[in-house]
Parts: sequence; C-alpha cells; structure tokens
Amino acid sequence: MNNRVSSKTVVDLDFDKQHIWHPYTSMTAPIPCYPVTSADGCLIQLQSGEQLVDGMSSWWASLFGYNVPALNQAATKQLGKMSHIMFGGLTHQPAVDLAKTLVEITPDGLNKVFFSDSGSVAVEVAIKMALQYWQSLGYAKPKFVALKKGYHGDTFAAMSVTDPDGSMHELYQDFVAKNYFTKQPTIAFDQEWNDSEMYELTKLLEEKHNQIAALILEPIVQGAGGMHFYHPNYLKAVRKLCDQYNVLLIADEIATGFGRTGKLFACEHAQISPDILCLGKAITGGYMSFAATLTTKKVANTISQGKAGVFMHGPTFMGNPLACAVANANLAMLFNSDWKLLVETIALQLQQQLTPCNKLKAVNKVRVLGAIGVVELHQAVDLASIQKQFVDAGVWIRPFGKLIYIMPPYIIKQSQLTKLCDAIFQVCEELSK
Ligand SMILES: *Cc1c(COP(=O)(O)O)cnc(C)c1O
Repeated sequence: MNNRVSSKTVVDLDFDKQHIWHPYTSMTAPIPCYPVTSADGCLIQLQSGEQLVDGMSSWWASLFGYNVPALNQAATKQLGKMSHIMFGGLTHQPAVDLAKTLVEITPDGLNKVFFSDSGSVAVEVAIKMALQYWQSLGYAKPKFVALKKGYHGDTFAAMSVTDPDGSMHELYQDFVAKNYFTKQPTIAFDQEWNDSEMYELTKLLEEKHNQIAALILEPIVQGAGGMHFYHPNYLKAVRKLCDQYNVLLIADEIATGFGRTGKLFACEHAQISPDILCLGKAITGGYMSFAATLTTKKVANTISQGKAGVFMHGPTFMGNPLACAVANANLAMLFNSDWKLLVETIALQLQQQLTPCNKLKAVNKVRVLGAIGVVELHQAVDLASIQKQFVDAGVWIRPFGKLIYIMPPYIIKQSQLTKLCDAIFQVCEELSK
C-alpha cells in the first residue's frame, strides 16, 4: 500500500495475486496468471515477450481476432458521439440498427429485442419473460426444466437451471430455486437417432407441465457443462413436446450463436425457432460485454397486456451505444466474410489434426463441430501445469476438467491452427506416458 502511484510499466503480478480475484480461483492459492500487454489478430502478446496463438477466442467471444481495424474504428467513431446514454425514455441509431439485424438473422418469429449487459443477465431476462408470460395468462407456472450438464451462467436464476450435480453451483443449493432436470441428451450429433431418447423428458412434461413455465437448453452444443454435441432430432422433439405441453422453449445461444457450430445459430441444425433466444459472447466480436434476449410478438404482447403492464427489467447500461456500434460493425464483418467457409475450413483441419489424438492412451475421444475441437481425456488435468506446457509451446489453451478444447477466431491461419493442434497432441502424448 506504500506504493500508491505506481510508475511501473510492467504488470504488478504480486499485487494482482494479493488483491485481485480471477475467474473461479482461490485468493490464497491462485493458479498463476500470465500478464498480457496486447493482442492482435490471433496472437496474444505476453509481457515476457512470448507470443501465443489464441485457441480460446476469449471464451467463445472473439470472431475476427484482436485489435480489428473495423471494430476499433466503429468504437472510436461512436466514442466521439456518446459512449453511453440511458435507455429509459431515450433511444439511438446503433441500438435500432442492431435490433434490426438481430430480428432479421435469428430464427423466424423472434422479433422483440431486450438488450442487457452480459450473458447471465440475458438468461435472467429470459426466465423473467417466461414467468411473466404465464402470470399474464393467469397460470401459476413457477418451475423450469433444464438439461443435466447444461450451463447457463453464474447469476442465481441462471444457476437454478445449470446442472446442480458436480458443478460449483451446488455450493449455494440451499438458496438456489429448485427446478427439474432431465437427462443429458446421449445421442451424439452424428450418431443414429432413436426416439427412446425422449422418453424421460416426455414423462416429466406429462406429469409436471402444469407447473413448468419453460424448458431451457443450449442447442446442439452443451458448452461449459462438458462440450457435448447432441443430435438435432433432440431439438426438434423438444420443440414439439413444448408445444404439446404448453411450455415455452428458451434457447441459450450465448456460446453457439454467430456461426460457431457451422450454422449461424445452432437452432438451424434442427430448423426450429425457440420462443425466447439468448445471445451474448460473440455479439460484439469479443470487444466488450453485451447481450440480447429475443422473443416473439405473442410472448411480448401477452406480458405487456398482463397485470404489470410492463416487463420488469432495465439495467443501467441497457442498449449501451458503444457496444451496439461495435456489435453492428462485427456483424457487418461477419456477413461480409465467407464465415461459413471459414468455419468449415477450420472444422476440416481440426478433424484431420486432432483425430490422431484418439490413439493416445490418455485420450477418451476426440470430437469436432464447426470451429470447435474437443479432446476428452480419461482423467482431469492439473490446470496450472498443463497451462504452462501450452504457454511453453506458444499457444493459449485453457482446459477444464477432462476437456482440452479449442474454438479459435474464424480468421486463424492454417499454420496457427496447426500449432494449436500440435501442442494438444504433444501435451496428450506427455499425459499418456
Ligand atoms: C458464457 C455463457 C453464459 C453466461 O454468459 P456471461 O456473459 O458469462 O454472463 C450463459 N450461457 C451460456 C451457454 C454460456 O456459454
């Protein structure tokens, strides 16, 4: 504390360790952090001088890498007008433009847009929408159905629909609302479909639908809960069951949205539209935190004509113009690029270069979908030591549990992706010794 005004140009790692919490870490025994000074394209510049190829897209968020001229320009231009202005009683062109684009590109029927500040909040908003919808119609439906191994965020309503077993959320279980969980879809994306997959969920809905406001899922890819890719027919069947049993369907595309799985939205693999859709992460191309929850005219109007007469949510930074401007530039880049070809090319290379890991003893199985590559091990890794091995190999990959996975920016070069895949193979080979 004696050195309040630091003249240091290097990151004060000691202060960081003493005073700053990082995601999901201990304050007394934190895993080492690597100071970053800048990032450009797919390269992360460490303070030590090393450059790392980015395999994580900063947790699904970056599509075109870092320090992107068009995004910088959009941000700078918007800063000169206004960085922020309250959204209560005021509106602006960046928000209108973004909403127009989102209505146009998302699955049919989703044409009412609620902007918020992060993915977890977008999920909270979706949950409130579903509750208020049924309330407005005079039903008491206070429960939700979610999938085991699902992940929807770290705030409390989001936690209440995130897998309660083996996740950190069980720490708060006495406080978290109790919802229903159905088994994780077991039939993989490219396996043969069997209707028996739906048996348990059908039974649950048959018995409990009177209490259930909505079913929430991550379409096709269950992300943080296990990087599992499931069959599109599951989504189709869920859509049918929700209609049959008067349950809304919430699709959480916070991780899968904007092309990551090979379709613009993962719902398109099954050609279904949810009643409520959550977007986040890549919406600003990884530049800043922003999210949106979209719903149908039917849901929005029902809420608006209910007892409250309004939808009860309104974050301070709702519709932040700076984030909207960057999101608009990011989506313009996406549609001006051949993103589908970029994602397919990454998928092909991931297939070719990660598949050899299958023969290693430490590896359980390899799977690839779109620009997502996963090597599932038999045993959980030691994060600190494996992270160092990856940094030494010149790549940024952050595994969790038994999963080593990458989802690089779409503009990654072939040689950079090879470097990521080679590093994974080497680390798995080492683990197999
Ligand atoms: C990351 C994520 C969230 C939470 O988003 P935050 O911006 O971290 O709050 C919710 N759902 C899914 C599927 C996610 O991947």
